[in-house]
Amino acid sequence: AEVVVEAPAPTPKVESRIKVTNRDRVIFPEGKITKGQLADYYAAIAGIMLPWAGHRPISLVRCPQGRARQCFFQKHDAGSFGDTVHQVPIREKDGSTENYLYVEDADGLVACVQMGTIEFHGWGSRVDALERPDRMVFDLDPDEGLGFEETKRAAVHLKEQLAELGLVSFPLLSGGKGVHVVVPLTPRAEWPAVRDFAERFARALAHADPERFVAVMSKAKRKGRIFIDYLRNQRGATAIMPYAARARAGAPVAAPVSWTELRDLDSAAHWHVGDAEALIARANGRSLKGWGVADQVLPDL
Ligand code: ATP
Ligand code: MN
Ligand code: MN
Repeated sequence: AEVVVEAPAPTPKVESRIKVTNRDRVIFPEGKITKGQLADYYAAIAGIMLPWAGHRPISLVRCPQGRARQCFFQKHDAGSFGDTVHQVPIREKDGSTENYLYVEDADGLVACVQMGTIEFHGWGSRVDALERPDRMVFDLDPDEGLGFEETKRAAVHLKEQLAELGLVSFPLLSGGKGVHVVVPLTPRAEWPAVRDFAERFARALAHADPERFVAVMSKAKRKGRIFIDYLRNQRGATAIMPYAARARAGAPVAAPVSWTELRDLDSAAHWHVGDAEALIARANGRSLKGWGVADQVLPDL
């Protein structure tokens, strides 16, 4: 596979013009992080987040009263987010059409926060090529007892096995428990082919090392193992977007890292919403140069 080394041009930092109400409302009780701080975080990191999260259908985790109260996962909206949160009609399996949400600028992100959003999840394809994913994601979900060391080793194993197939991949700390192994794709193959590849790959790894990996969702079968969640790669599925905040204790964020950096990290929740400046510096620094970028298509399995 031919690897392109330039990252997408970073969008300049933009101040949001969206009015955020109740700025002092505490959204993260542990550490007392407010809605205003969360909005400022997204306004600040918009330039580094939008190349990954903009122009693709998104689902939101909204927790209007804060992360400790009721949260809900939202895919559609009738227009209450205002005109910075756009709609794209998508054909559903049953033949009907539903409008999905997407954003393209800092105002769009902040408008979502104004409506109580904490997390941004997104499709693996962009609104201009909905049927052709530009990203495949393996979400590594360790069983309760397993530590981050095992998860890291699993991620490196996936990287090596993908490399055997000629595919370059990059690690994303989920901000929660796991690591996502992200495989950039030239948007050519359609969803069924990408899903099929992801499933076959995950099953092959689980078959080769059944003590360590499992490729089925069932919690019972996960005992002491890592679930290679390949189901992020079907049409309509989402994964957490790089730099999105998580509705978890301490306001951690999903963060791209290099394979070298991953070795020395001891948690998938290393950065949080107070780290906007550090994340921007990192995004423009050496270790993340080329992160998430490769002009490559799936080989035949
Ligand atoms: P962790 O590292 O802690 O596993 P994660 O983001 O990978 O964090 P998962 O529970 O493994 O969390 O979820 C994987 C993905 O499934 C999420 O990123 C999200 O896009 C999708 N997802 C989560 N909750 C829902 C939901 N209620 N409805 C639909 N999709 C969901
Ligand atoms: Mn996960
Ligand atoms: Mn999962």
